[in-house]
Amino acid sequence: MKTNDYIALEDQYGAHNYLPLDVVIKRGEGVWVFDVDGNRYLDCLSAYSAVNQGHVHPKILAALVDQAQHITLTSRAFRNDQLPLLYKELAELTGYEMALPMNSGAEAVETAIKLARKWAYQIKGIPQNQAEILTLEGNFHGRTITIISFSSEEAYRDGFGPFTPGFSTIPYGDVAALSRAITPNTAAILVEPIQGEAGVIVPPPGYLQQMRELCSKNNVLMIADEIQTGLGRTGQLFACDHESVRPDVMVIGKALSGGFYPISAVLADRSIMGLFQPGEHGSTFGGNPLGAAIARTALKVITSENLIQNSAEIGEYFADRLAEIPSRHVKEVRGKGLLIGVELKPSAGGGRRFAEILQKNGILVKETHGNVLRFTPPLIIDRETVDWALDRIFHILTKP
Ligand SMILES: *Cc1c(COP(=O)(O)O)cnc(C)c1O
Repeated sequence: MKTNDYIALEDQYGAHNYLPLDVVIKRGEGVWVFDVDGNRYLDCLSAYSAVNQGHVHPKILAALVDQAQHITLTSRAFRNDQLPLLYKELAELTGYEMALPMNSGAEAVETAIKLARKWAYQIKGIPQNQAEILTLEGNFHGRTITIISFSSEEAYRDGFGPFTPGFSTIPYGDVAALSRAITPNTAAILVEPIQGEAGVIVPPPGYLQQMRELCSKNNVLMIADEIQTGLGRTGQLFACDHESVRPDVMVIGKALSGGFYPISAVLADRSIMGLFQPGEHGSTFGGNPLGAAIARTALKVITSENLIQNSAEIGEYFADRLAEIPSRHVKEVRGKGLLIGVELKPSAGGGRRFAEILQKNGILVKETHGNVLRFTPPLIIDRETVDWALDRIFHILTKP
């Protein structure tokens, strides 16, 4: 079967909830993927930063195979010999005392919301059912009904109401607006330290620090969604680390498995996470031994292979070179580490056009918000490969 045969099958039998590029990938290795027709591409999306460690990382693969030969799923009705070790290693790496494992990112965000509401009623003393959570314009936290309830993206919401109450949305990067929005019933604010899906939007310097101060002063939980920005993507373990900010609740996912498996987690200290009592929350697959073994190794790869440092160094190099390209199409290059967004001018004709040309030249990217190209290769990428990509990107962005 060739590319078009697979695409025809997918179009006929699959829901059309995505508009993928017409490339049918069969194999991946490190920063490269290969399609069914034998073409090679540099993966500059990394499955939205789930594959920070590179495709089919040999150590994570070995952990998966080994664990799958022992036991894969026990449910949390029983205990397993991997999850306690993942808990401990997460605590040692992140400094949060406790964790709660889930599967998808959206589920972990939902979990954090439940935790914040519980904290609001039990600790802060907000009257029952009156807790409010602040969210930010341009947010992306997943696709469940509750999460799209506070999306500011019409396409994510249109036709899916009625929505979950208890949320309000304020402008991103605006401390004064945040200060005005906090009421005695405010339980938490849910923030992406850099908005990935919105087009790699970096808030003004000091924003996260001022948010932290306002939250502490008003007894409001700061919840950071670092599902995309976390685990080294921005050149620090967490994007909040750039401002030395420690949120009360941290949500991680994506690269927590290196792309092998859906694994997510909520992190918090005992004073907050300890509020969950047996029976109040759960997931059949959450915390399963296969996922836990994979996550343990995926985290080890990030630290032992210096991926955070590499993301900082190569990311700066990549972004600087991109910014130097004398292109009449580019409005701005922004980001941190290897989370890089190239915003195109309205006259450029949209990001999709460039994504398709880049594909023909062996580079896979996905446009976001119509006119932003996101360059987020696996964090293992080296300078030579970045130069290879820059060569091609230069030619494409300097054509008329
Ligand atoms: C991808 C993403 C999610 C949702 O994760 P899923 O695994 O797709 O449910 C939530 N928040 C952020 C910031 C993300 O990038």
